Amino acid sequence: MNSAPIPADTETRVNLLDLDREGMEAFFVRLGEKPFRASQLLQWIHQRGVTDIGLMTNLSKTLRSRLEAVSEIRPPELVLEQRSADGTRKWVLQVDAVNRVETVLIPEEGRNTLCVSSQVGCSLECSFCSTARQGFNRNLTTAEIIGQLWVAQHRLDEEQRISNVVLMGMGEPLLNFGNVVAATRLMMDDFAYGLSKRRVTLSTSGIVPALDRLAEVSDISLAVSLHAPDDTLRNELVPINRKYPIRELLAACKRYVGTENRRKVTFEYVMLDGVNDRPEHARALVRLLSHVPSKVNLIPFNPFPNSAYRCSHPETIARFAQTLQDAGLITTTRKTRGRDIDAACGQLVGKVNDRSRRQFRLHLAH
Ligand code: SAH
Repeated sequence: MNSAPIPADTETRVNLLDLDREGMEAFFVRLGEKPFRASQLLQWIHQRGVTDIGLMTNLSKTLRSRLEAVSEIRPPELVLEQRSADGTRKWVLQVDAVNRVETVLIPEEGRNTLCVSSQVGCSLECSFCSTARQGFNRNLTTAEIIGQLWVAQHRLDEEQRISNVVLMGMGEPLLNFGNVVAATRLMMDDFAYGLSKRRVTLSTSGIVPALDRLAEVSDISLAVSLHAPDDTLRNELVPINRKYPIRELLAACKRYVGTENRRKVTFEYVMLDGVNDRPEHARALVRLLSHVPSKVNLIPFNPFPNSAYRCSHPETIARFAQTLQDAGLITTTRKTRGRDIDAACGQLVGKVNDRSRRQFRLHLAH
């Protein structure tokens, strides 16, 4: 038998939910085992939802006890489950002593989409988003990101499989690059969740260098939170635009889809009454996107306590959509779901022990 160079120390136990295939194979090689064990473990954990290593009967008893000594399978703890009148479900997960994140399931005809968080809070300060008000605590680990899918899938009946994942929950996924990429690899691994790259979507506010890095290591679907057709307005709504302005962002989007031009970038556009919803904004958006393979997803603004905005009128949204469509842009309007349980876009707040002192700074600003 090979001897494992990994200490049997409970403090340093590896959480196997943290490992994608590559990480899992490396783990087994370090244990002196064959890399194919990774597939077996991934299936037990992600497809069968087993957290007790003792139950993994296609592994020898000796291997099971060695694994138990050095590793564990520790999903985030489920603290609250809510169900909206429209079928949307929200799970609140405790990720450490002080922080909670939220994950939301949106059931639709023919698909079940899970909206996953990538950070505890968010360090960006988009003016229309309630997560931004919470401040920022830390990045989620791979285990905590994939753990949301793990928990959600195992709360559902067997026939209700999660078919799509969108990284549109709390946080900016491209500011938690490594852990997000590892988690999306697990989402697409045939021995874990087996989702196709078209069914895993990362939404970003536009961290340009990270977007270029993503193109090198992944080909998941891309959504970009645009929200404004010019820099002056976008600087105000999505302040990261001051660092990565629209022109650079769209160039990066083109590079992202460049290699395989069947793909389109989805541009998200939150509809704010009197702010970004006028006919000239729609026309400017058409001009802006004319050189990028795009789809547009209009998002009716979801209000939250003390938000400074109102949602555009339904007729305004319909007219805005029509202008885009008339110009040949594929345009959809997101149906608001789960508002009654605060599960709609921009309403996820979890419980964030803010370390950015945002509340303090906001207070000083007034
Ligand atoms: N940080 C990433 C991931 C969050 S995705 C990003 O910015 O893309 C969440 C989506 O909901 C984003 O498009 C975000 O701009 C949008 N959103 C935020 N607050 C909202 C609100 N109050 N109403 C509607 N959409 C909102």
